[in-house]
Amino acid sequence: MTEPHPGGYREETRRPIGKRSPEERARDYQEIYEPSWDEAHLQSQGERCMDCGVPTCMGGCPIGNIIPDWNDLVYRSDWKAALERLHATNNFPEFTGYTCPAPCEDACVFAYNDDPVTIKSIERAIVDRGWEEGWIEPEPPSSRTDYEVAIVGSGPAGLAAAQQLNRAGHRVTVYERDDEIGGLMQYGIPDFKFAKSRVQRRVEQLAAEGIHFETNAGVGESVDPDTLCEDYDAACLAVGAQRPRDIEIPGRELDGIHFAMPYLRQANRRQAGKQLASPEIDAADKHVVVLGGGDTGADCVATAHRQGAAQVVQIGINPKPPIERPSDNPWPMLPKTYTKTYAQEEGGIEEFEIDTTAFLDTSGDGRVDTLDAERVLWSYDGEGSRVDKTVIEDGLAIPADLVFVAIGFTGPEADPFAPIGVERAPDGTFRTDEHMMTTTEGVFAAGDANIGASLVVWAIGDGRDVARHIDSYLTGESDLPPSLQTETPPISP
Ligand SMILES: Cc1cc2nc3c(=O)[nH]c(=O)nc-3n(C[C@H](O)[C@H](O)[C@H](O)COP(=O)(O)OP(=O)(O)OC[C@H]3O[C@@H](n4cnc5c(N)ncnc54)[C@H](O)[C@@H]3O)c2cc1C
Repeated sequence: MTEPHPGGYREETRRPIGKRSPEERARDYQEIYEPSWDEAHLQSQGERCMDCGVPTCMGGCPIGNIIPDWNDLVYRSDWKAALERLHATNNFPEFTGYTCPAPCEDACVFAYNDDPVTIKSIERAIVDRGWEEGWIEPEPPSSRTDYEVAIVGSGPAGLAAAQQLNRAGHRVTVYERDDEIGGLMQYGIPDFKFAKSRVQRRVEQLAAEGIHFETNAGVGESVDPDTLCEDYDAACLAVGAQRPRDIEIPGRELDGIHFAMPYLRQANRRQAGKQLASPEIDAADKHVVVLGGGDTGADCVATAHRQGAAQVVQIGINPKPPIERPSDNPWPMLPKTYTKTYAQEEGGIEEFEIDTTAFLDTSGDGRVDTLDAERVLWSYDGEGSRVDKTVIEDGLAIPADLVFVAIGFTGPEADPFAPIGVERAPDGTFRTDEHMMTTTEGVFAAGDANIGASLVVWAIGDGRDVARHIDSYLTGESDLPPSLQTETPPISP
């Protein structure tokens, strides 16, 4: 065992596991991160953790990961114990270790005036090692109840709920309308951000624990929604929030304008060698415009580059965030500052405060070829909503053979659950009470469908929470742990 080294935090500098060079990675679909890491490197990063009396990093983590413990265990080279501590609060640490924006690092005490601990890299290294060593195995329950639970949707929320409920002994069936399990981890987030073999490994683990999966089983399509109430003791709707926000301006009906998700979904399916829906969308040699920032917009930019786009312009309607934290946004709040995305590191033009006014078809062939736009300055109300604009420059003509609309999501898509009494809240999500139950007795909701489009870590936390509520509903009490979600989840379009 490595001896404690109280001054270690002063000697080591922050060195996360790196990304491959932008030039190299933009030419392939392999993960953008360096594939391997060195144990001594990660130990030195764990050593930077000061084990603060008040672990603000844990407060910044929506699922309350016990970060100082596993940082220290990595420093001491006790990786197996670190993995156990990580799994205590997170069913799928690789989902977050590869994709999370790491609000924990923003909340690290070091981040007050220095570089935070590389918490995300350490998390990834622990779970990578766990898989390599064969430490991650199926954990079926020692006994079974007679309760049957249906989970609708197999994204991170549905899978976390399924694993927790199964480990509590209930009989769990997951219905997924797609041909593969995983939700946005499978057909939304590109392979180069998260390799699909990582999802598959977890699906095999969950199946070996006794969870029953039904794919190509859309509730409201091939599965009657009444089944949820008639054949199960409880159900959870974890169907995500993939209804896209549209932009209603002249020319919207032209060919060549697509929502982001069909494009990204198709790109993922192409990588997996699966059949594609028509029309096939390919950015090769095209002038591409991506409307909207956020993870979805970034993934469109990066996918278009890999397909060989001639030019990719990403347009945001809001001003560019500041580099430094503004005074009303102090540590340990989530910083509202600018960070260059991995996609922009790979190239592309990034524009802010651009208001798109029309899609133009100047050649008259029915396809978009130009975006008409204005450079603007916004004024805001007290709530921070845009109220008025001053046009700085109009008539911007941006070449656009392909446009991807990535300006957010407005809740779950088509609603097959209304006939069984499930109501919506004004924001489009399912209306739920303090126990996460919808307006239909015994039918609960979790993940993006419950909280609105957010992040993988929030979805896992919501899945864990709903499992605890369902377990209590069925048995009158629950030993399943709650997650630590205390704040409003951030919106991630
Ligand atoms: C392009 C993109 C990139 C993102 N990148 C990141 C990132 O880098 N980091 C991050 O933290 N977050 C990211 N997010 C957000 C994150 O992916 C989501 O917050 C998370 O996946 C939500 O999980 P979920 O389980 O609630 O829903 P989802 O992952 O959306 O899964 C819902 C599942 O329900 C299924 N379903 C829907 N209706 C039915 C039905 N009627 N019957 C059966 N099945 C149904 C769907 O097919 C889907 O598989 C990204 C989102 C997008 C769109």
